[in-house]
Amino acid sequence: MAETIFSKIIRGEVPCHKVYEDDLVLAFLDIHPIAPGHTLVIPKEPAATLDALSETSAAALGRVLPKLCRAVQRATGIQAYNVLQNNGSEAHQAVFHVHFHIIPKPNSDQGLGVGWPAAPLAAPDADRWRDAIARALA
Ligand code: AMP
Repeated sequence: MAETIFSKIIRGEVPCHKVYEDDLVLAFLDIHPIAPGHTLVIPKEPAATLDALSETSAAALGRVLPKLCRAVQRATGIQAYNVLQNNGSEAHQAVFHVHFHIIPKPNSDQGLGVGWPAAPLAAPDADRWRDAIARALA
């Protein structure tokens, strides 16, 4: 995996506004926040996308994410929030080191805007994708 700015932050070569650290996880403020308290949570393991992350790092992230969400809620006084995790440039990933955004949603104008072009799931598609994904897991 190519070196990213987050590897430098983990090694302490680039400063960050750190809010949490353990052996496997680091959390710090996003440098271009889209809401007050916008926080990034990253594994120390240098995986570019979530599908490439080890179970150990995934478990470590899963363990601390709820606690960090509660801390952002308490600190900002904003109860609603989005957790965003982008994978691939088409999916708006800019830094190719796994990261979860915790983004407070103070009101409908601030925070994350989400496009959600939903349509009803057609029966043939449901069968096809259920079978294909279940097979891919096996
Ligand atoms: P993404 O589009 O999901 O890859 O988001 C990458 C995020 O990393 C953006 O929200 C950036 O503002 C943030 N970011 C980039 N460099 C830094 C940095 N040095 N410190 C904190 N956040 C950063």
